[in-house]
Amino acid sequence: MQGIKELFKIGRGPSSSHTLAPERACKLFLEVNGTYPGYLVELYGSLSLTGKGHHTDKIIEETLGGNCKVVFKLDWDESFPNGFYIYGLDTNGNKQVKWTVFSIGGGSIQIKEHPVNYNDEVYFETSLEEIYQVCEKNHETLMEYAQRHESDIRTYLSDILDAMCACVKRGLSEEGMLPGELQMRRSAHDLYLQGLHANMSDQRDIRLMSYAYAASEENAAGHTCVTAPTLGACGVLAAFMYYAYNDCEITREKCIDALIIAGIFGNVVKTNATISGAVGGCQAEVGTAVSMTAAACAYLEGLQPSQIEYAAEIGMEHNLGLTCDPVLGYVMIPCIERNAVGVRRAVDSANLAKYLSRVRSHLVSFDMVVETMKDTGSQLPRSLRETAEGGLAKEWEK
Ligand code: SF4
Repeated sequence: MQGIKELFKIGRGPSSSHTLAPERACKLFLEVNGTYPGYLVELYGSLSLTGKGHHTDKIIEETLGGNCKVVFKLDWDESFPNGFYIYGLDTNGNKQVKWTVFSIGGGSIQIKEHPVNYNDEVYFETSLEEIYQVCEKNHETLMEYAQRHESDIRTYLSDILDAMCACVKRGLSEEGMLPGELQMRRSAHDLYLQGLHANMSDQRDIRLMSYAYAASEENAAGHTCVTAPTLGACGVLAAFMYYAYNDCEITREKCIDALIIAGIFGNVVKTNATISGAVGGCQAEVGTAVSMTAAACAYLEGLQPSQIEYAAEIGMEHNLGLTCDPVLGYVMIPCIERNAVGVRRAVDSANLAKYLSRVRSHLVSFDMVVETMKDTGSQLPRSLRETAEGGLAKEWEK
């Protein structure tokens, strides 16, 4: 299993697969191959079908600079559904070097011609059951387990916590229109103000959702956010952490613990299923984010490891089958609202696990629900996996 650091990345929105991954690949291309008089980049799969709305072409042109042409193509027959070719061109436009890049979710990349090793396979264990067994055998907590494998994880996650909070804070103060054809007005600020005057029972919920709106609107605007596990789903965990750190004044150390817990659950999903909407639909993105956040919330509630697992399992189970159908390819509808609903669902999952586990033990394991998510994703039609060809995206076009 890869390091938690590779799961939480700071980058520019609106999509980890469509902006962060191409930006990373293009930077690495220049680093490894040097500069060329020209570049040709061919986008395929979801990158081609929703790349315009996700600003993929813009970020590639900006990163490679100079004479760069980006084309959207459909006849991709590589092994992974979402990817692109980068060509370095000579002064006559002849192709000199070619990279085949797969955008595998959450901003992570694989390059056929140049294997990348982003602190790869740090953990031997791959399932939650294995991780729990090791912790039991060594008499260690999940935090000690993570620190044993990634010694600098706390410092790294301290920066991640700051980046998440900064993103929410910025999003709350911004007003006006989001970029793009949808002509969507930012809502986080107004939602937050409404939350202040809501009745007692609604106050926390509206505040939490306004935080998710704030982070997701920052992402939609192409600003800096944190993958958790992706940029499209960045609002769920960021909203909860902002709430915990700022509103509940939970200590930084405890918040870092919660991020470690969330990271372990997200990593199990990433390793055994997928966190890419183009592969598994939105259950892989917002579903995973809800699961991670439910685990973090359960930890901060003081629940035991089996109850934390229960919370994460509930969070994923009730997102199974969630499709990815971004209208006009923008990470706005249904994405922003979905992040807001997601953070509520995560808190509810932790609460349900807390009280239900006093009545009976859970029957579905986290590993089982992750397998189910993978299988369900493989059965989703392509039109509902980040192609903007089905669901809401299709209805909108009618
Ligand atoms: S619908 Fe979900 S998976 Fe698809 S772009 Fe939006 S947030 Fe990402």
